[in-house]
Amino acid sequence: APRVRIAPSPTGYFHVGTARTSLFNWLFARQQGGTFVLRIEDTDRARNQPEQIAGIQRALRWLGLGWDEGPYLQSERFERHVAVIERLLAQGAAYACDCRPEEIDARAKARGGPPGYDGHCRDRGLEPGPGRAVRFRTPSEGDSVFDDVVIGGPVREPLRVVGDFVIRKANGDPLFILANVVDDADMAISHVIRGNDHLSNTHKYVLVWEALELGPRPVFAHLPLMVNAAGKKLSKRRDKVAVEDYRDEGYLPEAFCNYLALVGWSPGGDREILPLEEMVAAFRLEDVNKSNGVFDERKLLDVNKKYLMALPTDDLVARAGSWLAERVAPLAPLVQERSRTLAEVWSMVDFVYQASPVVDADAWERSRRRVPAFGAILAGVIERYTTIDWTADAIRQATVDAGEAAGVASLAKAQEPVRLAVTGRTVGPPLFESLQVLGRDKTVARLQAGLS
Ligand code: GLU
Repeated sequence: APRVRIAPSPTGYFHVGTARTSLFNWLFARQQGGTFVLRIEDTDRARNQPEQIAGIQRALRWLGLGWDEGPYLQSERFERHVAVIERLLAQGAAYACDCRPEEIDARAKARGGPPGYDGHCRDRGLEPGPGRAVRFRTPSEGDSVFDDVVIGGPVREPLRVVGDFVIRKANGDPLFILANVVDDADMAISHVIRGNDHLSNTHKYVLVWEALELGPRPVFAHLPLMVNAAGKKLSKRRDKVAVEDYRDEGYLPEAFCNYLALVGWSPGGDREILPLEEMVAAFRLEDVNKSNGVFDERKLLDVNKKYLMALPTDDLVARAGSWLAERVAPLAPLVQERSRTLAEVWSMVDFVYQASPVVDADAWERSRRRVPAFGAILAGVIERYTTIDWTADAIRQATVDAGEAAGVASLAKAQEPVRLAVTGRTVGPPLFESLQVLGRDKTVARLQAGLS
């Protein structure tokens, strides 16, 4: 039976593209009676965010894409990766390199050729060791070729273009490109289903695979990119790309999966609503589209609406209730002492789950008159909030500083515009703790809306 994996790096938030790759792997595994492995690729120590490991698991659970094995942590296999690098060095398939990036660039400029490594250290016979990277020795003639089920044929690249790539950094860390292959082999992964942004990595993958004589290669299936409605690659700046945001806004995970599956795959016909079990039955890698898929938030909203409408009302109540409870829970300890009734609890916490706060217009006007430098305070906190550690204490200090810079010495006065812009009201739970719960991005977005 096939073994597939999702191998996210914990470097930020869980991207909708990763969600779709997970879904396709999961659908394939379920249909084939295979195994879906979760592997966290946390080899890049500089970019890792360890708390994101929990975020990855939370997102997959929310989507309903449970894994059968793992999570394995790539970093825990460090010694294995080093042993493989040493083997490649010993057999001459890799070599030590002490070129610095500036030198490599300067030589490329001098050649007048494209940037990239020129093989400078290939035959220097440097002793590998601290401060020296290890590069894979790529043959300079011929093509790299692998078959891809989605593309439906061979994918080719001149080996000269692939070049001698780094498999171990000068600081001793094995690179993802090496660890990824070794882990797939050790975990007996039979199908590598991932985004086509990895196509050039796959040429390197295959070279390492062959050098290690790992036997028959896995089947490769590179999924088309997801673009936004304007045809541009999804980006954090332009688009809502964090799965967490859709969860926070109350999308239904089954609707989300349904929509995601249809961005890039079609079961034939023009069916739009396709429950997970039916997708499992119909899914074929060969039917994944070759061209980019458009991820259109408005279409997603349509699909979500259809799912919502189809829910038995009791289920709707239950699900809305648990969605609300999840949003309110982190604030509950802050409001408990200040509320006399459950209704008062709600009036103090509703701002967290509203898309934008319902601003009390009278209070806003009064505050504008009462607090000098209302706008200057908002501008000052926005500037400071974007750089501080996101803790209640740091938020408090930044607010004090912004107030003083705007000539407002009283913290009570300085925090009033902030509270209004973020919660819509002049009273509520302790402000700085609340902002910490709400999160930096939402807080700053609301302050910016308040300023304009
Ligand atoms: N860790 C890689 C990434 O996050 C995934 C590589 C793979 O799926 O093979 O892009």
